[in-house]
Amino acid sequence: MIILEHPKQVQAACQSWKTAGEIIALVPTMGCLHDGHLKLVECAKQYATKTVVSIFVNPLQFGPGEDFDNYPRAFADDAEKLKAENCDLIFAPTAESFYPSDFTTRVSVAGVSEGLEGISRPGHFDGVATVVLKLFHATLADVAVFGEKDFQQLRVVQQMVRDLNLGVRIVGHPTVREGDGLALSSRNRYLSPEEREWAQRIAELSFFTREYLSGNAGATVAELTQAVEEFLTRAPLRIDYVRMVSSADLKPAGVEDQVLQISDPRLVLAAWCGKTRLIDNFPLERNR
Ligand code: AMP
Repeated sequence: MIILEHPKQVQAACQSWKTAGEIIALVPTMGCLHDGHLKLVECAKQYATKTVVSIFVNPLQFGPGEDFDNYPRAFADDAEKLKAENCDLIFAPTAESFYPSDFTTRVSVAGVSEGLEGISRPGHFDGVATVVLKLFHATLADVAVFGEKDFQQLRVVQQMVRDLNLGVRIVGHPTVREGDGLALSSRNRYLSPEEREWAQRIAELSFFTREYLSGNAGATVAELTQAVEEFLTRAPLRIDYVRMVSSADLKPAGVEDQVLQISDPRLVLAAWCGKTRLIDNFPLERNR
């Protein structure tokens, strides 16, 4: 496994692989790797002959007052885990090597990036699209794997790839969860034991919505949203948003629409658990 810092070094290494006929898969991460990330790496290996994992806490996607400075970093541990997964290359740029002082470009994906996280975190998806496009170019990726945990991010990247004819195959991987259903996240380590218990409300939402819809198949978006908000706030969680959207384009459903009439409905939410902001999303279906 090689570890490289500079985009030009990565491009040269990947170019020589491409010339030798290798197929390159990229898994972009911000490090502090957990089993969710490692599942993405396993998945990437099925699509490619060389697997590249980037580890970069991207300053462009953090707003003022967000947790950029405190974001957990654990490079030595990450490298060990990736070696055990037979990753071929870790791309670990510094902010200076990735964004030289005269760097001015921003990639902005209109539409799908505007609601949900785009409202709560203005500029976040410009930062994401910019870093991802740059990572694609540095690694010459044929395939890139993203988690459905960040469902809006997945849709933003897919839109960018379509719009710009990037020719990178985007694979979405289902959210990897702990035994009780909480989505794995590098930010979960911020949670105190008490907050981790509060977060279980989010973990139980998949079960809660399925039960609710099997008893109220005709429930409207407004009714289910209210039920979910009441369920969540039985713990001291502070809701940022709870929305029912269509999975294809993340457009919000009308409040009077029946949830199960929406095409491929999905519940998306963000909530504060103490000082930690957690996001999650669940496809909605009737109990079978
Ligand atoms: P991050 O390091 O949080 O930027 O995440 C890097 C990639 O891993 C993104 O594509 C995330 O969606 C994905 N990811 C993070 N947590 C999970 C999870 N629990 N299950 C599946 N994918 C995840």
